[in-house]
Amino acid sequence: MGLEGHPHGAPGKGDTSVGTVVLKRGREKSVLRRHPWVFSGAIAHETQVAPGEVVDVRAYDGSFLARGYYNPHSQIRVRLLTWDEGEHITPDFWRQRISRAWARRTSPLVRNTGNAWRAVHAESDHLPGLIVDVYGGWLVVQVLALGIEVVLDTIVQALVDIAQPTGILERSDVDVRKQEGLAPRVRVLWGEPPPGRVEIEEGEHRFLVDLWRGQKTGFYLDQRVNRKVVGQWAAGRRVLNAFSYTGGFGVYALAGGATHVVNVDTSAEALALAEVNLRLNGFPPHCWTNEEGNVFQVLRRYLEQGESFDMIILDPPKFATSRATLERATRGYKDINLLAFKLLRPGGILATFSCSGLVDPELFQKIIFAAAADAGVDGQILTFLHQAPDHPVLLTFPEGRYLKGFLIRVL
Ligand code: SAH
Repeated sequence: MGLEGHPHGAPGKGDTSVGTVVLKRGREKSVLRRHPWVFSGAIAHETQVAPGEVVDVRAYDGSFLARGYYNPHSQIRVRLLTWDEGEHITPDFWRQRISRAWARRTSPLVRNTGNAWRAVHAESDHLPGLIVDVYGGWLVVQVLALGIEVVLDTIVQALVDIAQPTGILERSDVDVRKQEGLAPRVRVLWGEPPPGRVEIEEGEHRFLVDLWRGQKTGFYLDQRVNRKVVGQWAAGRRVLNAFSYTGGFGVYALAGGATHVVNVDTSAEALALAEVNLRLNGFPPHCWTNEEGNVFQVLRRYLEQGESFDMIILDPPKFATSRATLERATRGYKDINLLAFKLLRPGGILATFSCSGLVDPELFQKIIFAAAADAGVDGQILTFLHQAPDHPVLLTFPEGRYLKGFLIRVL
């Protein structure tokens, strides 16, 4: 779809002639509680609206509830932008929302003491479907919904004005776009193309990040605070960093005084970058071992070989991608945690994570408990871990809480 002449992309135009979506009786409740999603099943009828266009959402009696953007190809038919009837979705609206999200991150407590952080966290910043991450002078934008796609020019212009970046890269190569009827896409949106590897600072540490091809937008910014926690507990420990990606937790562990770190990942490319990052932070090869392999198999092999560790980090990818995969995911989490408990020496520390939104903290705790019980060990949760504060969770959108973890001491 072209952006030219689109009613809500065109500068200076209001949205006074927007379409209407009328909800079934009783289905207004979640909208009144300011949950940002309207599912197709809640809709009684709707006027003719073009995909991506702004609509007013009304209760069965016709009263105004909220305004958002519409996509007939998505189960989430409308993503809500405002509950204020007087607020219109103009270019100024987008600019204001982005500058608010940006302003909320002026504190390094929220952002980072380094130069890589999340500037816009989608629904949780009242900008559904939009992710913006900062990597030094570069911005990486991820467009997860059609309603953002159609106003992307406006958003890019706002970002240029607010952030004054060197360049903006779009990394919309994510599966969820399929659910919006959108194809994957990677391209330079504005300014200079970023180099193959961009160096970032995170606290005391430096990392090279591949913005073009790295996972997510290049780096797991959401784990920043947890990396620090792991570093604080690592002194004198032999550490296994499972699902290491480019070595983030490993660098913090060594900086915290770990005696040795073993990084395990299936991706040779991630491990190659982990090596660069370890060296960049002053850790020569005798401090670490990089092992390319499947964690499920590698942990079993270590157990057979009688290996043991004083600290294990388990940061797997999202195992539960849908309700249908939840049971299998649960088994996967239990399996690796069971193996980890068996590999830890008494007094050992397990930092274990799940980034599956569908696995809530209570379920995750139960899985970990069951794994410990089956391993025949007892443990204590020392710290409850979660996503960094530049990835906030909107109270009205509890689904925004996806990353959770525990720091556990084995007794
Ligand atoms: N802890 C990392 C992020 C981990 S992301 C950080 O803080 O930067 C998950 C990683 O697990 C990815 O690098 C992916 O390549 C790897 N991975 C996925 N499945 C795996 C498996 N079965 N065994 C080993 N690594 C796996």
